[in-house]
Amino acid sequence: MAKKQFKAESKRLLDLMINSIYTHKEIFLRELISNASDAEDKLAYRALTDDSVDVVRGDLKITIVPEKETRMLTVSDNGVGMSREELESNLGTIARSGSGQFKAELPEDSAAEIDVIGQFGVGFYSAFMVADRITVISRAWGSEEAWMWQSAGADGYTLTACEKETPGTDVIMHIKEDAEDEDYSKFLDPRQLQSLVKKYSDYIRYPIVMELEDYRQKERPADAGDDSQPEWETVKEWKTVNSMVPLWQRQRAEVKPEEYNAFYKEKFGDWQDPLTVIHTSAEGVVTYKAMLYIPSQTPYDFYTREYQKGLQLYSSGVMIMEKCPDLLPDCFRFVKGVVDSPDFSLNISREILQHDRQLKVIATALEKKIKSELLKLQKDDREKYESFWNAFGTQLKYGVASDYGLKKDLLQDLLLFWSSSENANTTLAAYKDRMPQDQPFVYYACGESVERIAKLPQVERILERGYEILYCTEDVDDFVMKALRELDGKPFKSVTEEDALPQTEEEKKAAGEKAEAEKSVLEAVKEALGDQVSDVRASTILKSGACCLSADGPVSIEMEKYMSKVEGGQKMKADRVLELNLDSEPFAALKRAAEAGQSEKVAQYAQLLYGQALLLAGLPLEDPAAYAELICKLMV
Ligand code: ADP
Repeated sequence: MAKKQFKAESKRLLDLMINSIYTHKEIFLRELISNASDAEDKLAYRALTDDSVDVVRGDLKITIVPEKETRMLTVSDNGVGMSREELESNLGTIARSGSGQFKAELPEDSAAEIDVIGQFGVGFYSAFMVADRITVISRAWGSEEAWMWQSAGADGYTLTACEKETPGTDVIMHIKEDAEDEDYSKFLDPRQLQSLVKKYSDYIRYPIVMELEDYRQKERPADAGDDSQPEWETVKEWKTVNSMVPLWQRQRAEVKPEEYNAFYKEKFGDWQDPLTVIHTSAEGVVTYKAMLYIPSQTPYDFYTREYQKGLQLYSSGVMIMEKCPDLLPDCFRFVKGVVDSPDFSLNISREILQHDRQLKVIATALEKKIKSELLKLQKDDREKYESFWNAFGTQLKYGVASDYGLKKDLLQDLLLFWSSSENANTTLAAYKDRMPQDQPFVYYACGESVERIAKLPQVERILERGYEILYCTEDVDDFVMKALRELDGKPFKSVTEEDALPQTEEEKKAAGEKAEAEKSVLEAVKEALGDQVSDVRASTILKSGACCLSADGPVSIEMEKYMSKVEGGQKMKADRVLELNLDSEPFAALKRAAEAGQSEKVAQYAQLLYGQALLLAGLPLEDPAAYAELICKLMV
C-alpha cells in the first residue's frame, strides 16, 4: 500500500522527535495515557448524553503491556476510538492546541528546539522519541470496522483495514534498541513503567492497569513441620497502578507543589509552572471543590479571538464541560482550572447550565476567592504579584473600564500604577496613605512612557506642591480613571484637565486680572488658530513650559487618542484648549509682536505654540510639512 505523507509541520515535529536528544523521553508515556484518558472521557460523556450508548463507566480502563522479547510496548484504551478519517486527520497532522502551540512557539534554531520538547504537551508524536515503529489500531465506537495506522517515521504512514474485537485504540510501539548513551529498554520494564505512571499520571481517573510480578510466600502445606522454611513464589497479577484520586479531591496539605504544577502543565498545555494555585472547597448551600491556577505568563493567544475563558466542570469526578465560561468573570479570564460539584446532574445541557443558580453561586464565590488570593499575594509576595501584574494587569484594567464600571469595586484594590514619588508601582490604597491632607485630587498623567510623562509641562507644578502623580502608560488607563471616578471621596484628575490645580480666591483674582490684561494677545492667538482650538487661555498649571493642551467638555485628549487607534472606532475629537504660560519668554515675544501690530508674526507664533502643544500631548501635527517650513522660516 502506498505511503501517505505527513503534513509539512507535522513532519518537522516528527523529525524533531525522532532525532531528539531530549533527556526526558519518558514523557511520551504521559502523553499517550493522557490521549487514552481523553478518549475514555469522550465515551463516558457520550454515554451520559445518548441513551443508546450503553457503556458502564466502571469498565473503562487503560492497559499497558510491555514485551521484552519483541521490544513491543502497547498502550490500549477502550474509549471512543478513531475512524479511518480520524486516524488520518488526527495522526497525519498536528491537531490539537497543545501541538499547535508547540509549533507556534518553536524557536528557529534547532538547539533551542530540542530544549522545548517535553515542556509542551507534544502529544502522540513524542512516542517517536522512544520507538522506531508505531502501529495504531483503532475501532471507533459504534462501528464494526477497525483500521491500522503504521509509521516508521518521517517518510510517511500507511492505513489499512484490520480486525479489532472491541472499540478503542491500541498504540503499539517498537521500542528502539539501546544506544551507547540511551537505555531504551527501561521502557519495557514493568516496574519502571509503573513508576512513570505514578510520576506523571497518578490522578488519571480511569484505572491504568499492568500485569506485575509479585513475590509471595507460598501457603504452608498443612503437613509442613514447624521448622520448615517458608517458600516464595513469583505470581503475576493485573494491578491498577494509579491512585485515580483527582488532585482536587485531595486535602491541600497532602498535595505537593510539584504535583500541583505537573497537573497544571499536563492539563492546560503550559510548559511553565503556574504563578500560583488556589485550591478551595465549600460545603453547604453549594458543595464544590475547585483548583484554580494563575499562569505565570500571558498565554500566547490571550488577546486573540481564539482564546476562550472557562473552567473545566466536573460532577463528582466526571467531566461534564470542557470550558464553562460562566464560572469566570471576563476580568479573570486568564484563570485556568477545574471545578467539581456533586450538585450538577451529569447530563445537564449547556443552555440550562447557563441559568443555573448553583453555578452562579459558585461563580460568585470563586470570583471573591480569586480576588482575596491575589490580594494576599500582593501583600505577602510583592515580587510575584508584580509579575502577575505584568502578565495580566491590563486585563484587570479592562475589567474596570468595561460594563460601566460594574466590576470596579472588585478590582480597585488589585490595580497598580506607576508612582511619581515612589518610582515604582503603587496600589491606590498606598497612594491614599501618602496623600497630604490638602491634596484636592488623585492625580494621574497619561503618556507613552514614564520618562515622557515625567517631562510633561503640566506635571511640574503638581509635583512641586508635593503631590504624587500616577503615571499611566496604557491606552485603557484614562478610561479606568473615569470609571473609578474617585478614591474615598477624592476625585481622580488628569493633569491635563483645566482645573487640575485649584486656586485660592486670591490666586484666582490675581490670575484673572493678569489674563484680562493679556486678553487682546490671547484673542489674537485664538483668531490665528481658527477652528483648530475651541479656546486659548492663560494657564494656571504651567511653570517653566510655555504652552500645553487641555480639553473642554466630556472628551479628553486621551480618549481622542485612544479612539483614533481603534479600528472602526468612532472618531471622537476633544474640544482642544491651548493654554499659554503668561510668564514665559515665548509669551513675551508673542506680546511684543502683537503690540507692534505684526499680525503675521503673531499668527506664526500661534501656530508654533499650538504645534508644540500637540506634540507634547502626543497628538499628531495636522500638517507636519507646513510646521517644518514655519520653523525654518522663523530661523532665517
Ligand atoms: P493532542 O493530544 O495534543 O490533541 P495528539 O497528537 O496526541 O495531539 O493526538 C491528536 C488527536 O488524535 C487527539 O486530539 C485525538 O483526537 C486523537 N487521539 C490520539 N490518541 C487517541 C486515542 N487513544 N483514542 C482516540 N483518539 C485519539
